[in-house]
Amino acid sequence: MSNVILARMGEVTLKGLNRGNFETQLKHNLKWRLRGFGKLDIYQSQSRIWIEAKDPGNPNFADSKAAYDIMNAVTQVFGIVSVSFAVKFEGDFDSIREESVKYVRELLGEHPEYKSFKVETRRGNKNYPMDSQEISAEIGGDILEAFPDLCVKMKDPDFIFNVEVRDYNYVYSGKIMAHRGLPVGTAGKGMLLLSGGIDSPVAGYMMASRGMPLECVYFHSHPYTSEQAKDKVVELARIVSRFSGTLKLHVVNFTQIQLDMLKNSPQDMITITMRRVMLQIAERLAKQNNCKCLITGESLGQVASQTLEAINVTNEVVKMPILRPLIGMDKQDTCDISRRIGAFETSILPYEDCCTIFVAKHPKTHPSAKDVEEAEKNLDIAQMVEDGLKDVETITI
Ligand code: ATP
Ligand code: MG
Repeated sequence: MSNVILARMGEVTLKGLNRGNFETQLKHNLKWRLRGFGKLDIYQSQSRIWIEAKDPGNPNFADSKAAYDIMNAVTQVFGIVSVSFAVKFEGDFDSIREESVKYVRELLGEHPEYKSFKVETRRGNKNYPMDSQEISAEIGGDILEAFPDLCVKMKDPDFIFNVEVRDYNYVYSGKIMAHRGLPVGTAGKGMLLLSGGIDSPVAGYMMASRGMPLECVYFHSHPYTSEQAKDKVVELARIVSRFSGTLKLHVVNFTQIQLDMLKNSPQDMITITMRRVMLQIAERLAKQNNCKCLITGESLGQVASQTLEAINVTNEVVKMPILRPLIGMDKQDTCDISRRIGAFETSILPYEDCCTIFVAKHPKTHPSAKDVEEAEKNLDIAQMVEDGLKDVETITI
């Protein structure tokens, strides 16, 4: 008898001819994400992936409580929809009866409030002498006999008891929902403009959930933005990397560029001008690092630089597609995702990002092409982009 983690695949199973590539990537990502949990066997049958310890003494598999960390890590691997902790054993139907009653006894010890249940059975082994309904009925009968206070309830029972008969037998109850999506590495790489706010980490998470590996760029204006502001971005990149896998964070020294802008262009256009330069630097870094798109946390109408006019005049400076996964999202929903991925507490730390310090009191909300031309006529934009690219620190996370 041993304990195993059962992970269910989602959208991956809807893939046609290239399903195999998605599954291989998913297993590879699981291996990488779980590398700190001891030597593991990770194998697949049909739409499930099974994770077992090679070493029978592995403490992460001792019981469902001890397995919390490893199961949580599995839920963060895109491509998995839910996870359960199961007991695996060999033997005939009598052994399934025995293990089932034993399992439910332990479960009721932890949840004395449970009053109703139902049994669900899956048969991977179609030659098994009983069909799933017969197995459920028999095991349900045994549980009722052993625990006369319980009753069977088909709709909304307090717990579902699962039996699976395959090459081995498995019993378990309950599942944890995972983050779904597609395995990271099945799409091309994107360059995320990561600031210290709430939105951009969520934007990165959302694109990674579609299979996209990430690199990040952060525009830092030391000493106008503090070391803590940078540490905060590094921490946010680390949080995103739990989902996206290892990534590079490029920190661009933006101070001189911003000071030049403050001096040589109108106050009310500074945000737009700054964003236009940021995007050009980001696009060049993206090309250098084999990224095929840029990603931002913009959401329509959220601030002055996110009106359609402002988006148009910033968009036009680059050729690469700019993905804006939050464009139609409500801030509240973005905050919910931020909390769910564990970024919120870090994002709301009070350290300024560069935009908040160099921001105008009354920025132009509907800039025209003419406004932009006027604002940039005393700036050597091409040189600014070159200068920005000369002063980049790259941190591997
Ligand atoms: P966030 O919550 O992500 O900071 P925001 O609501 O503060 O976004 P803006 O400051 O207008 O909005 O920034 C819009 C987007 O531009 C950000 O989501 C991010 O992708 C990018 N961005 C802004 N400032 C920086 C920066 N200093 N470094 C890198 N990217 C930035
Ligand atoms: Mg911000």
